[in-house]
Amino acid sequence: MVEKIPPHNHCHMCMKAIPVGEKLCSEECRQKYTTLTKRRRIIWLFLWAIIVGSIIVLMLVQTP
Ligand SMILES: [Zn+2]
Repeated sequence: MVEKIPPHNHCHMCMKAIPVGEKLCSEECRQKYTTLTKRRRIIWLFLWAIIVGSIIVLMLVQTP
């Protein structure tokens, strides 16, 4: 016996079932999500700065 589940999404923060097309269930989760994505973007920028920086340093070191 297979129970058919109607199409739905899950809240990106608390995994609660929400209507299709929605990303988050409440204003509280929306705020948490915004903070998280902002922090993640800063971490990525930081990582990229390190990667690009070390490539430039390597290139400078290798050129005679
Ligand atoms: Zn939520």
